[in-house]
Amino acid sequence: MRATQVAFNQAASYCAQVAWDEGITNKNTLHHRVYGPTRLNFGLGAQLACCARDKAAEAVRAVRAAPEHRDRDTDTMMAKTCPTFRDDSSVRYDANSYTLKSRDRVSLNTLSGRVIGQLVLGDFQRAHLYDMSWSIGGAELFRRANIWYLGITQTKADPAPDEPTGWLGVDLGIVNLATDSEGETHTGADVERTRQWYMGRRAALQRVRTKSAKRRLKRLAGRQRRFQKDTNHRISKRLVEYAQRTARGIALEDLKGIRVRVRVRGPAQRARHSNWAFAQLRAFITYKAQRAGVRVVVVDPRYTSQRCSGCGHTERANRRTQAEFCCVVCGHAAPADYNAAINIERAAVNQPMVSTRTHPRAG
Ligand SMILES: [Zn+2]
Repeated sequence: MRATQVAFNQAASYCAQVAWDEGITNKNTLHHRVYGPTRLNFGLGAQLACCARDKAAEAVRAVRAAPEHRDRDTDTMMAKTCPTFRDDSSVRYDANSYTLKSRDRVSLNTLSGRVIGQLVLGDFQRAHLYDMSWSIGGAELFRRANIWYLGITQTKADPAPDEPTGWLGVDLGIVNLATDSEGETHTGADVERTRQWYMGRRAALQRVRTKSAKRRLKRLAGRQRRFQKDTNHRISKRLVEYAQRTARGIALEDLKGIRVRVRVRGPAQRARHSNWAFAQLRAFITYKAQRAGVRVVVVDPRYTSQRCSGCGHTERANRRTQAEFCCVVCGHAAPADYNAAINIERAAVNQPMVSTRTHPRAG
């Protein structure tokens, strides 16, 4: 398998180089150009040769499509370079080049014929792999610390969303990462505490300009990202489950609204409102909702934070602080994000519904 891995990635690097040098973008054209040499020079069978070509073609396309980067030291645009693959990079198996067998076994194409591997499945993997409603696609084989892993892609169509009986407005914020229109808050307090701690550590490490400090910085950033991701998974799961249980759709603000509302002052503040974290939370809510058949609508964010949910009066002065809302006309007072969540829910109720379901007329 190691020999296959090396040959596969060298072949993929070769295919990428040809595609790069000759400006080939079309998979078919590339196939005719590299198929023979790939089989001859790297010893790959027909199927693995095609997989190496695909891996190369996709990598080349990704590099070409990526935005150009500026070199921070010389302040010039960096030239894009042809992608290459390390010998221990993953091996692509498309659906034709591996077979799942009974008793959790897998048969993989290698340089020396087929090899049977024993899969060690966790509960999650087993539940999905044997669930016939999920179709099985390609896979990536890779090795970490001398253990081989097979990453199998499975797909399933989203269920048709249920017709909601109402809406759950969700306001995304900083103090409370999410607040729904029932006043339930999904606090960001632990996230904020952890973030503060990471920031302190980061500043200390940045002052030390050694190689090991750099390495630790990188590890630190990874840990913070994982922590944030985990929090976003928990919050989105809870929101979607609640909406599903109460047969409602979820209403969110248009993404632009978040940036408008979160006024950023100074570098310390700026670091607080990491846009990717919000974008990720939104993305998690959206895909979990899709999977659960919960409809999601996006509403116009204008005035969501300034409008009084009691009387409708809209004025900036209603928003006393980041956290407090108090209407200057009717005196209605509420936590600012709860007030906003109610406005979001109303906006969803009022906007024309675009239904994907057709109702056949009686008679
Ligand atoms: Zn009011």
